[in-house]
Amino acid sequence: MPEKQRILTGMRPTGQLHLGHYLGALENWIQMQHEYECFFLIADYQAMGDHLDDIGLIRRSVLEVATDWLAVGLDPEKSAFVIQSYVPEHAELTMYFSMLTPLNQHQKNPTLRAETAQLESEHQSISLGFFNYPISQAADILLPKAHLVPVGEDQVPHIEYTRDVARRFNRLYGDVFPMPRARVGRVPRLVGTDGQAKMSKSLNNTIYLADDPEAVSNRIRRMVTDVTGENPRLRATDPGVVDYNPAFLYHDAFNDDADEVAELKERYTAGTVSDREVKERLTEAINRFLEPIRERRAWYEEHPDYVRDVLLAGTQRERAIAQQTMDEVRQAMQVVYT
Ligand code: ATP
Ligand code: MG
Repeated sequence: MPEKQRILTGMRPTGQLHLGHYLGALENWIQMQHEYECFFLIADYQAMGDHLDDIGLIRRSVLEVATDWLAVGLDPEKSAFVIQSYVPEHAELTMYFSMLTPLNQHQKNPTLRAETAQLESEHQSISLGFFNYPISQAADILLPKAHLVPVGEDQVPHIEYTRDVARRFNRLYGDVFPMPRARVGRVPRLVGTDGQAKMSKSLNNTIYLADDPEAVSNRIRRMVTDVTGENPRLRATDPGVVDYNPAFLYHDAFNDDADEVAELKERYTAGTVSDREVKERLTEAINRFLEPIRERRAWYEEHPDYVRDVLLAGTQRERAIAQQTMDEVRQAMQVVYT
């Protein structure tokens, strides 16, 4: 049997997980955990880059994220759940990679530029740690020599950057790292309930995996059904537009009753169904989808010690591999003195 290929991917512990995380990432992880050796990283260093002033949130979220992962069906027997800062080799490899990355090239990273501009527009100061996070993310992925990185679309440029780093290292010091590839989910980027391009905690346009039926219903009742604002639909008899309509994007993604979705689309276009009914059916569909997740979540919430054990065991598993890689890196770079 050839060895399984490896996956490293992760999330930042900056709050609860939402439907965007599920479609962009988790759904793929759940399937891929059977075929790959997986390392799922809770990236607390990375969270500190812009949330250091709220370390309480990071601390709570480490356990929250692990709880959400278990609730959606990630299997800790198969896959390692890893706390990033408990494997300090992540920081060590980041240090070496920083040495071989030209500053002017780093400053040109388009994703970093956009995010930095966003933070500056909110008058937030930017830490060196934040500025360095694309390199830190490259180190995360390359430390266990991952081949594949299942992520949402917004992350794809960072995987490209990771390949650049790996290529540069291998050219200078010999073939140590594989060239990792990104794998994007069924819905590469889920729109927010307000119609903005990305569902995101900071935009307050989310439906959380842990939301109860009432919270889901409230979120969907206020959901935007016309992103452009050019086709306001005032009456159930107005012909509606299905394309790019968040309510139907969510129906497509979550409603397991395809006949119902097809029928609703037809009636919406013809003007024989209200926004309200479309939303009520959507609420039912999303609650159907979330119910088993809620049930499992309730069990893990009552057993936080189990969740902690899962984290510690997974972290240990990655650390052993991380130390091997660091030995190789030091040998390759000739950073060996005794
Ligand atoms: P938030 O903006 O809500 O804080 P995030 O993008 O900062 O979320 P991360 O921990 O950085 O969260 O990302 C975790 C994973 O989830 C990444 O692979 C990211 O691409 C994916 N993801 C997050 N939001 C969405 C979304 N709306 N649609 C698709 N994928 C998403
Ligand atoms: Mg975030």
